[in-house]
Amino acid sequence: MLIVANWKAYVQSPVKAKQLVASAKRLATHADTEIVLAAPAPYLGLLAPGNRSRVAFAAQDLSVSTGGAATGEITAALLSGLGVTYAILGHSERRALGETDEIVSEKVRHALANKITPIVCVGEKERDIDAKYLTTLRAQIAAVFSPLSQKERMQTVIAYEPIWAIGKTAAEAITPSDLSEMILYIRKVLGDYIPGKGVSKVRIIYGGSVEPSNARALASGTGIDGFLPGHSSVDSDMFTALVKAVR
Ligand code: PEP
Repeated sequence: MLIVANWKAYVQSPVKAKQLVASAKRLATHADTEIVLAAPAPYLGLLAPGNRSRVAFAAQDLSVSTGGAATGEITAALLSGLGVTYAILGHSERRALGETDEIVSEKVRHALANKITPIVCVGEKERDIDAKYLTTLRAQIAAVFSPLSQKERMQTVIAYEPIWAIGKTAAEAITPSDLSEMILYIRKVLGDYIPGKGVSKVRIIYGGSVEPSNARALASGTGIDGFLPGHSSVDSDMFTALVKAVR
């Protein structure tokens, strides 16, 4: 299981950031559970350099810029140089600020070119009875996968994050049976880009109100490869319980 803790901007002190890292390191003892901490960018400079632990670090975004006269931008090369190995890209909270599929695609290519594994967020705002949301998902995946090589496609992680399920409670998250259906659908779409068995190599994770109380059910028999928890990743007791529930 791949567990990517999206701290968003919830963590506002380096002391708290260090506590969360220490707690995650204590949890990262199982070879089959990979813990990735998506800390706000300033903390990455503090936490990622020299990291030799089993915990990895992710950026919550990166720039379309490759450097130079680009005030305030944080490039993929800069992050990679710090020891950051993953980046969450196309999160709905960034898409809400105007990030398009084209921009996400460009960021994914910068990430891959700098040995950063992209975690691409896709997901519908709402579920319509005509299932048009499936078309939305297909388009989001197509925009990112089309320009990539087969190898790059297999390296990319897809985070299915239905927007209607984000920032709620476990009771309002997706159900295990709906999640199974969505994983099947996403793998089918991925199959259009990765022929043969390679498609099973793409990791698909789920985010949207994953809490200790629903994590095990969402992990069992749904075909999911991991989770991207937001609010429950910044409370060390909740995060510990969540990780223990799925491994
Ligand atoms: C997220 O925004 O990536 C997320 C999954 O948040 P939460 O777990 O709080 O719903």
